[in-house]
Amino acid sequence: MIRHLEKAIKNGTSFGTSTGLETELARLIVEAVPSIEQVRLTNSGTEAVMGAIRVARAYTARNKIIKFKGSYHGHADYLLAKESPGVPRDFTRHTITLPYNDIEGVEKTAKRCQKELAAIIVEPVAANCGVILPKAGFLEGLRSIADESGAVLIFDEVITGFRLSLGGAQEFFGVKPDLTCLGKIVGGGLPVGAFGGRKEVMRLLAPEGRVYQAGTLSGNPIAVTAGIATLNILKEENPYELLEKKTKELCKGTESIAQKYGVRLKINRISSLFSIFSTDKEITFKIFFHNLLKEGIYLSPSGLEANFLSTAHNAGDIKNTLKIIDRALKRLGR
Ligand code: PLP
Repeated sequence: MIRHLEKAIKNGTSFGTSTGLETELARLIVEAVPSIEQVRLTNSGTEAVMGAIRVARAYTARNKIIKFKGSYHGHADYLLAKESPGVPRDFTRHTITLPYNDIEGVEKTAKRCQKELAAIIVEPVAANCGVILPKAGFLEGLRSIADESGAVLIFDEVITGFRLSLGGAQEFFGVKPDLTCLGKIVGGGLPVGAFGGRKEVMRLLAPEGRVYQAGTLSGNPIAVTAGIATLNILKEENPYELLEKKTKELCKGTESIAQKYGVRLKINRISSLFSIFSTDKEITFKIFFHNLLKEGIYLSPSGLEANFLSTAHNAGDIKNTLKIIDRALKRLGR
């Protein structure tokens, strides 16, 4: 990766001008993600979501959006509906928040909103309130409701993109949204976000269309080079089966250690994404977290955040982690 970055810097690439690198990253995204025909690069996942919602509203000429409780789509005011002081109520009056996995609730609300619903935005696997898998039929149900109501279906794949599979959750579950938001992996650790989807919607963006969206550093050669290198590595190495195997071993191992010591916890997992729910008191998670940290294992600091296994974790790391987890859970046990 460093080699790729050094080359980009040496080539004297300048910001704000096209280097061809953005086109290459766009090509890789379009090739990998089933529903993306055209894509726009941004600097973050937040910007990607803001762009997707703006173009969805322009496409439908409607305002209201449905999002789901516990989801996180970045820090735009209208997406932090109930979650932050400093967000004027007026800014969230077009945002409707519904329970995740309740397809009937979405159906009822979409009917009630009729010609006002611009978009339904969903994390195809909810990963910001612990990892919660979509119930069978939930994503398909959202697809049909969006079709029936004329709303745009947006998958926020900032977490799931290039993680559940190269084509993200939409490839994993076989459901195509109209627009997709990407972040995190798409920049290989540097700040890149992207949104894309059906050409018919995306072409409304300026300069081809009239929907404004821009960013001085969007598509900058350094970050984009990291993204290109990452996507090429994922494409060539196809690490998904191995990642799944390693994560399963870690999670199953943790569950059986917990059982051995009578500690009640539940792990939700899909692919390399997992979260540990302590079914005792919250305090159990805190003690567990700190016990692990003392021994060099850094779990996500809240039970509500997801953990990710990466290709850099090897079999020895998993074994060592399980040993440390054993000691930590033993101290918590009966
Ligand atoms: N969407 C999801 C699902 C996220 O998890 C995040 C960040 O964690 C975002 C959007 C916002 O991305 P960023 O932090 O790059 O702005």
